Amino acid sequence: MRDNQAMIEYDAVVVGAGPNGLAAAAYLTRAGKRVLVVEQADEIGGGTRTAELTLPGFLHDICSAIHPLGIASPFFGEIGLDIEWIQPEVPVSHPLGGGRGAGLFRSLDESAIRFGGDADHYRSVIGPLVESADHVVEQFLGPIRVPRHPGSFARLASRGALPASRIIGGFATDEARAVLAGMAAHAIAPLSSSLTGGVALLFATTAHAYGWPMVKGGSQGIAAALARVVVDGGGSIETGHMVENLDEFGDGTIFLLDVMPEAALRLAGDRVAPSAQRRLARRKSGNAAFKVDWALDGPIPWSDDISPLAGTVHVGGTYEEVKAAEDSVWNGNHPERPFVLLAQHTPFDPTRAPDGKHTAWGYCHVPQGSDRDMTDAIEAQVERFAPGFRDLILERHTLNAGGLEGHNPNYVGGDIAGGVFGPKKLLQFGSQHPYRMGHGVYLCSSAAPPGAGVHGMCGYFAAKAALDAMG
Ligand SMILES: Cc1cc2nc3c(=O)[nH]c(=O)nc-3n(C[C@H](O)[C@H](O)[C@H](O)COP(=O)(O)OP(=O)(O)OC[C@H]3O[C@@H](n4cnc5c(N)ncnc54)[C@H](O)[C@@H]3O)c2cc1C
Repeated sequence: MRDNQAMIEYDAVVVGAGPNGLAAAAYLTRAGKRVLVVEQADEIGGGTRTAELTLPGFLHDICSAIHPLGIASPFFGEIGLDIEWIQPEVPVSHPLGGGRGAGLFRSLDESAIRFGGDADHYRSVIGPLVESADHVVEQFLGPIRVPRHPGSFARLASRGALPASRIIGGFATDEARAVLAGMAAHAIAPLSSSLTGGVALLFATTAHAYGWPMVKGGSQGIAAALARVVVDGGGSIETGHMVENLDEFGDGTIFLLDVMPEAALRLAGDRVAPSAQRRLARRKSGNAAFKVDWALDGPIPWSDDISPLAGTVHVGGTYEEVKAAEDSVWNGNHPERPFVLLAQHTPFDPTRAPDGKHTAWGYCHVPQGSDRDMTDAIEAQVERFAPGFRDLILERHTLNAGGLEGHNPNYVGGDIAGGVFGPKKLLQFGSQHPYRMGHGVYLCSSAAPPGAGVHGMCGYFAAKAALDAMG
């Protein structure tokens, strides 16, 4: 156990310095509380770390790379985070082969026009959500609660609860169908499951309302900005320390755990209330990711004219192909043609590579715990829509499911989303207090609502609940 005298200095201990742990710590320090953050890795950031993974001078985002939910985050806005966002001209593209491409532009109208016969339907589905985007995001990025803006909520809920396949069924063009499939596939679930429609609508709305930005120099900038708020407010951050049991901190402090529920139960032991124990034990890890980072000799030679302008490229072909890939993963298989989420930073942020050189970041979904090397399958997909891509590869770095968990214990079996997607996770297994675990312990990671993504809202809501309890 630590020196009790030293611990008395702290009102709260945050275990884990991912964006949610740091957000919780930032909120509490701004509220005048004395906070200690303890992180097992040698660096803060969790899913927002940047490193030279391939060659000297090439900076790669190890996990998160593109931040629609970060720029839209009500909490990041509220504390005025000092982040230099870079907005690519096109938030997201979706090549279709043969030089055809689709995508979402910042302008709703420009996007709609490119959907041809689906233009009016796209405007009518997404337009009202874009107009009330702040309300839509506020509803999504929080625990289930009485809607503060019933009109926006009704618009969202009427379609958001549907499977994406139902929404996509209302569109006729390959372009609109593929783009919406790419949005929905972020759920890491079959596009025929309920609520995936909501994911598609949310991501399309953010593309128009906020853009899909990257952080100048790398996503580590988000962690650094949050950490500055903590340290400037008198908080302390300790790295290189794996917390095994909260008893090491003694009693008399509040704990916020930026860890997965299994770990939280282990660390907190009998501080956890039986009801929370039962609820958290019901959580299931979701499917995993296989990640590749590339150092490139030039920009990716996309054969369509939209993708070179996009920060994010959804590589997977038609709606039917994307759907088949995601179904395959859900059924425990490795798709031959996976859906690849690719980010290209250097065309917009040249600080991330030596002069004239480029980086790219990509991953596909794989079954939970998979040890399959998906490099060839991923590169074949990129080559399909950008012939000549492979010739540009100077070096690559890969992480399979086990590699991801080794990088960050929160990625259990390679699950990057804090648990399997679905109504049970959304409803937190019926809990009215999804953050409170009992006896001064709060869960603040992406396993709590609103879930995965770099937005800090899990940390914010958990810290708010803790502060309310502190009185
Ligand atoms: C490949 C990949 C791509 C992604 N892409 C995006 C993207 O583009 N945009 C986006 O918004 N999101 C993306 N995400 C998801 C995003 O990174 C996560 O949702 C987010 O980081 C979750 O934040 P968190 O604070 O809850 O947890 P984490 O970021 O996982 O942080 C948890 C921290 O706790 C530490 N920790 C765990 N256990 C202990 C312990 N016992 N003692 C001390 N420290 C501990 C960990 O080391 C870690 O630093 C991606 C994730 C991955 C892996």
